Amino acid sequence: MAPSPVVRFAPSPTGLIHLGNVRTALLNWCLAKKAGGRFILRFDDTDGERSRDEYAEAIAADLRWLGMIPDETVRQSDRGLMYGAAAAVLKTAGRLYPAYETEEELDRKRRLARASGRPPIYDRAALKLSEEERARLEAEGRRPHWRFLLNHKPVVWDDLVRGNHSIDAASLSDPVLVREDGTPLYTFTSVVDDADLGITHIIRGEDHVTNTAVQIQLFEALGADAPAFAHHNLLIAASGAGLSKREGSLSIASLRGAGIEPQALAAYATLVGSAEAVRPVRDLAELAELVDLARLSRAPSHVDEAELAALNAKVVHGLSYDDVAQRLHGLGIGGGAAFWETVRPNLSRVDEAAEWWRIATGDLEPVAVEGTDADVIIAARHSLPGGVWDDTTWKFWTRAVAEATGLKGRALFHPLRKALTGRDAGPDMSAFLPFIGRERAQVRLGRSET
Ligand code: GLU
Repeated sequence: MAPSPVVRFAPSPTGLIHLGNVRTALLNWCLAKKAGGRFILRFDDTDGERSRDEYAEAIAADLRWLGMIPDETVRQSDRGLMYGAAAAVLKTAGRLYPAYETEEELDRKRRLARASGRPPIYDRAALKLSEEERARLEAEGRRPHWRFLLNHKPVVWDDLVRGNHSIDAASLSDPVLVREDGTPLYTFTSVVDDADLGITHIIRGEDHVTNTAVQIQLFEALGADAPAFAHHNLLIAASGAGLSKREGSLSIASLRGAGIEPQALAAYATLVGSAEAVRPVRDLAELAELVDLARLSRAPSHVDEAELAALNAKVVHGLSYDDVAQRLHGLGIGGGAAFWETVRPNLSRVDEAAEWWRIATGDLEPVAVEGTDADVIIAARHSLPGGVWDDTTWKFWTRAVAEATGLKGRALFHPLRKALTGRDAGPDMSAFLPFIGRERAQVRLGRSET
């Protein structure tokens, strides 16, 4: 039996996560959880200047809201010793070498290479430095950065999304793994952690395909088996621009604030650009059954906010009273399950129920009516039902008004709805009328200026 998967979602806490980041998290979650595996949240926070605790907390809260509670959370900023030890292993093996070029010198080399028609690949000049030359550079006050010595051969992997992939490492510069000031860089720390945490599948955006050849060689150099890789297509804005963490575009926080339900957001972020139609799901377990990495689109997928809103409305229409009771209470909405079920089909977000509660129970602006509409209102006033108002009241009342006026259909129902709710459309009046009640109905009809 294959071992259970262990996956990680590895955001850098430098901003709020957006729909595209969450696509990565969800694909990881779905793959791991449907096979009884583990999901690790790893904060890539080695960039001390840009990483913030608030962002790490916000990211964890966004995942929790979506139903993803990590089995383990780690921070790269706590794991410095491990990176130091791994760097020592690579140095001993002759795979990590010091280089002294400044940014300007490297830039000049790249320009020269381009000018003479060569690819701008690092020329490994640092490897040719003698002991004395190195000592001289250090005496000048230069500190080395450290480059990984690539094996110049093709690196091949079977990508779970993109199929067979090959990158010739000879076409790449030896990557810098450790900066002058000793801070290790993402390419390196990621592999050290993935090896240490026993990650079996790296599922991430296709913007990381180019890192993969280097990282596979790094796993090998550290004596670890490389995990399986899956590079999924990216989500892009309707304009065609990439989603950005810094600008907060389509951030989970802003979508939540706009009334998007977690199930809708999760289903949308996962199913858009997949072989499955975007549709509501009850929970992440159901969503996981729909995920098939091999059938994800290869092209970037446009985020269509109208499609997301439409999916959200469908999700809202499927929420039970128990699902929302607490939130309704928090919004000051009464009426229990009956009220929720009455207004639910008219909502595109849960908090819109508050407006219907106000329409049912608050003060409404009087509505001006004329012509046959006025006849309807006058007849309705005269035939105002007595007794307890329930879901049969509307039928008997409108029948009486129909008899008195000879009107039917829209000519009959619309002026009544308008006078009683102030709206042209809305919930089924049979169910809604009891929440308005006799007293308020009488006031609203009485105030209608006929
Ligand atoms: N911190 C990296 C990112 O957010 C993680 C990439 C990876 O999954 O390896 O892009």
